[in-house]
Amino acid sequence: MVRRQLFRRGIRSPRVLAAFRNVPRERFVPSGERGEAYEDRALPIDCRQTISQPYIVGLMTDALLLDGTESVLEIGTGSGYQTAILAELARHVVSIERHGELSIQAAAVLTELGYGNAELIVGDGTLGWPAAAPYDRILVAAAADEMPPALFQQLREGGILVLPVGDSESQSLLKIRRINGRPEASELTACRFVPLIGAGGAGSDDSAT
Ligand code: SAH
Repeated sequence: MVRRQLFRRGIRSPRVLAAFRNVPRERFVPSGERGEAYEDRALPIDCRQTISQPYIVGLMTDALLLDGTESVLEIGTGSGYQTAILAELARHVVSIERHGELSIQAAAVLTELGYGNAELIVGDGTLGWPAAAPYDRILVAAAADEMPPALFQQLREGGILVLPVGDSESQSLLKIRRINGRPEASELTACRFVPLIGAGGAGSDDSAT
């Protein structure tokens, strides 16, 4: 997976590739899907959600330019796989999930694997998590029509926010840097994520597409 799906498609950071080698993806996939854990696509998890395609997890992680000192906010814990990758590469991760059931399952796997620097919270991630703000990096794993303003407010000056923006048909994965208090955006790729549902977002349909 690391060579074919990540390295060959341009993800070259040795730290990022090492993190992918260290995290056993099969532990985050439902037992019926284990045989597919290293396939080049998203897979279904509980609550009609998905564990993202490895390449997309790699691209988002790579865009965050983590050196191990950062405090990171993740929205959409899902299976916890991306959370584990972030926990390998950053100092501390706060990850918010709206489905309590998914958060509990993810927490169990992360604890078993020894990721003591990941803090899991059940709640509405469109509002961010002001208690631990500001964050050096923010990663959003579900798509909204627009960037939720609370998330940008909780991003430190010079920090990086990666999120998918768009509707269920067409989405762009954006990298946003906070420069002089303003967002500077660039597009990483076209993508397809489940909707971000919450007070500070715009989604209304909870099904995976
Ligand atoms: N990176 C995860 C992706 C999970 S899919 C993985 O690889 O497993 C996105 C997740 O975002 C879903 O679990 C969904 O329930 C969650 N989500 C959607 N809207 C949310 C919100 N407002 N706050 C927190 N989580 C949300």
